[in-house]
Amino acid sequence: MAHRDWPRRPSLQAVRCSWLARAGVELALLRLDRIDPLISGNKWYKLAPHLAEARRLGAPGLISLGGAHSNHLHALAAAGARFGFATVGLLRGHAQDTPTVRDLQGFGMQLHWLGYGGYRERHSPGFWEPWRERYPAFLAVAEGGLSLAAAQSCAGLVEMIADGLAALGWDDYHELWAAAGSGTTLAGLVLGEAGRHPLVGCLALPADHGVPEAVARLLGAAGRAAGQGYRLVDASRGGFARLDAELARFILTFEAETGVPLEPLYTGKLLLALQEAVAQGAIARGSRVVAVHSGGLQGRRALDARLHELAAQA
Ligand SMILES: *Cc1c(COP(=O)(O)O)cnc(C)c1O
Repeated sequence: MAHRDWPRRPSLQAVRCSWLARAGVELALLRLDRIDPLISGNKWYKLAPHLAEARRLGAPGLISLGGAHSNHLHALAAAGARFGFATVGLLRGHAQDTPTVRDLQGFGMQLHWLGYGGYRERHSPGFWEPWRERYPAFLAVAEGGLSLAAAQSCAGLVEMIADGLAALGWDDYHELWAAAGSGTTLAGLVLGEAGRHPLVGCLALPADHGVPEAVARLLGAAGRAAGQGYRLVDASRGGFARLDAELARFILTFEAETGVPLEPLYTGKLLLALQEAVAQGAIARGSRVVAVHSGGLQGRRALDARLHELAAQA
């Protein structure tokens, strides 16, 4: 199957739980976590244009960067294995054995551990040179898959939401919520929405980590005004990988009530930020909210024990 004909379109699923029912707010999740058993979440939509470009160029493979739990590298390695591209991953830190790393190796990704200092050099001018020499003609994909083409690909998600409304018996929705890491997916949703619905981006990193600027740059490159058609909420809880007891309990309760699995770095923080907005009365009774379940569940495996430990704390 050609990669542009794949994957299936995501479903829009209504979920019910106690805090939504109490506030009289309806929620539907765009289940990007279920589009494929391996290539999960928003990462597919961000990778699709890079894979198409690699095919167009006749590139033998793709090379990118990330951490030892990276959803981006996981999706890239799985897509490479499926569509016949070699993949190379440049990893932050020193060799670690995580469930993600074992999968990357299983998919045949060539791994290079850069250390922490080496990884910090990734934006410096000479960084790519040795890798270009070592892997000639490989297509380099930016960290997290960030690019304008990737954002434009994610713009199509808005159409997929519109297509799913009828099956829910909804004629429209009042707000769209999504998590932001690199900001690519959010920028895409801004492009797709073009101001039709209020859009809330929940920052998985503290606001001073450059994500608002990255979203603005992507929108600028697409000829759109920054800061229009969306607002940002700091959902990071103090740090990207920062977990706490409240978040852990929220995730485990939400999963038990809805049957929908979450991971703590993006989707858990997104829905907790939504719950806080609901609790503050910021979302009117009778509202219909769509939230993007951006996947990432593979990354939860290494955090599962910690989540249960935290949730059990007094
Ligand atoms: C990468 C990721 C995001 C963030 O997407 P960006 O396009 O980088 O902002 C959100 N949710 C999950 C589960 C992710 O893996």
